[in-house]
Amino acid sequence: MKDMEVKNLINLEEISHKTSLNLIASENYPSKDVLNACGSVFSTKYAEGYPGARYYEGCEISDDIENLAIERAKKLFGCDHVNVQVHSGTQANQAVFLSVMKPEDNILSMKLDQGGHLSHGSKVNFSGKIYECNFYGVDRESELIDFDQVRKLALEKRPKIIICGASAYARIIDFEKFSNIANEVGAYLLSDIAHISGLVAANVHPSPVPYSDFVTTTTHKTLRGPRGAMIMCKKEFSKIIDKSVFPGMQGGPFMNMVAAKAVAYNEALNDEFKSYAKQVVNNAKKLSSVISSNGFRIVSGGTDNHQFTIDLSRNNLTGDEIASLLRKNGIIANKNGIPYDNLPPKITSGIRIGTPALTSRGMNEDQMDILGNLIVGIINNRNDNNMLNKLSNDVKALASGFKLPGVD
Ligand SMILES: *Cc1c(COP(=O)(O)O)cnc(C)c1O
Repeated sequence: MKDMEVKNLINLEEISHKTSLNLIASENYPSKDVLNACGSVFSTKYAEGYPGARYYEGCEISDDIENLAIERAKKLFGCDHVNVQVHSGTQANQAVFLSVMKPEDNILSMKLDQGGHLSHGSKVNFSGKIYECNFYGVDRESELIDFDQVRKLALEKRPKIIICGASAYARIIDFEKFSNIANEVGAYLLSDIAHISGLVAANVHPSPVPYSDFVTTTTHKTLRGPRGAMIMCKKEFSKIIDKSVFPGMQGGPFMNMVAAKAVAYNEALNDEFKSYAKQVVNNAKKLSSVISSNGFRIVSGGTDNHQFTIDLSRNNLTGDEIASLLRKNGIIANKNGIPYDNLPPKITSGIRIGTPALTSRGMNEDQMDILGNLIVGIINNRNDNNMLNKLSNDVKALASGFKLPGVD
């Protein structure tokens, strides 16, 4: 690369990943093949429209690559129809809303501060500005989705769409239960599996496809593809979904990203991906149990998927201070609210921990054991600089033993 300023920053970013341990639950390391497709000649191409019906000339090969991505996605998730052009998870949800709702129609979704997502009706997001939104949450005791509340609100508010799926929820989501409630009140069911789609693809989490009118997901989280998203839907919604993506909401598709999605879907069809997905969950279970056996409470008591949240309130600590302490010592995780948090979103009482990125680097339960003790050690020795020095060297040593897929 000739641009030394940018090249230098890319190198620094690479070194920062190599020498630290990434526990951001929404991040992952895609393969070199995925990255190569992102940087390929397809980034040149304008291909507004869909295969066989484009508004530009010279799209025959773009048709082939998009058809290939579609075919592989259908095989992977067993869906009737899929749109692989949508640029991001937020836009995928937007396209679904556009397809069946009018402004001021009603959405029922999970509260943002109990695990939901901005694009599910938050006041600061387009979804909360355009549509009327009501929210369900988790039970105070079990910290599991409160289905009595979901049903009660559904009967009371008669939403046009019920959304299930979350950004910070560590337990299995019962899509069938959501579907029964949606059917009872005549609502569409949108399952947003942005976080867990890799686990769903590998059968490590039940699939929402048989129960949902629409399924949206990002492609870059547990699914380990390029940055982007996709929308699956029942056959009857195929046309309105495609129309609402283009021309409804987007211009030309990013054909390079469509190519990279095709690569990622194919990778996810392999047995190697299935063992990766199992390992992601085993790693999260192991890491949460090491941390909880050292005096920290885990929200809902543990995890069934790739992530969990540590409740620091009983230790008189905040998410903000511990995320920054861990960062200084080479462990990257984000502060996160816990259900019924007493602290504001900029501070929070929790730390969200996810294992996809480290699992993609090849780590297993043995490393999770070491890592759990490092996390606990760093928190408990936060006022002892000598100990912190030693511990952050241990973090670097652990990180340097594992390559970054797609980079090394
Ligand atoms: C990450 C996420 C999204 C949004 O993805 P972007 O690509 O960042 O817009 C949507 N829904 C859920 C549940 C998510 O976790």
